[in-house]
Amino acid sequence: MPCFRRWASRPRCEGDGWLPSFLVSDASVTPVSFIFTFDHRNFYDPDALENGAAEEANRVLKRILIVEDNELHFRLLNDLLEVHSYKILKTEYGREAVKLARNNSPDLILMDIKLPDLSGLDVTRLLKQDDQTKRIPIIAVTAFAMPGDERKALESGCDGYISKPVMIHSFLHTVRRFLSP
Ligand code: MN
Repeated sequence: MPCFRRWASRPRCEGDGWLPSFLVSDASVTPVSFIFTFDHRNFYDPDALENGAAEEANRVLKRILIVEDNELHFRLLNDLLEVHSYKILKTEYGREAVKLARNNSPDLILMDIKLPDLSGLDVTRLLKQDDQTKRIPIIAVTAFAMPGDERKALESGCDGYISKPVMIHSFLHTVRRFLSP
């Protein structure tokens, strides 16, 4: 959370989009890990969103499992979701993701594709074959923004697909869409 507030208040945050310079060094998959785009609302104040407190109250108990092996990407998603009152579970391993999903029944899973053990697509297949976990919506969040990746993710059983760089507004919109009652 502190990171986000610091980034959000930086004076460079003008215009349509900007990139925190330290993210550029994180080049394990792509030289540009995330680009933030801002419209003129403040995404860090829940009351500034259109539906305000009522929507916030609906979300209080929603739990999201983030499966992500890149610490920086994890923190970014984590901080953004925590500030919007979601409860976060985390793992960087595919096999552990299967266990966490079975034991905790999260309301939503955000699934990175490239993980140290299993691929996120394989993890998704395992979860969708299991009666205990098959109803949990899974959104693939991946830097592989190549043609056909969305199709592959959906064929593996993912319910949605978000490609990095993650756009904050559409990301939150997609998360809410899968969590609405
Ligand atoms: Mn990864």
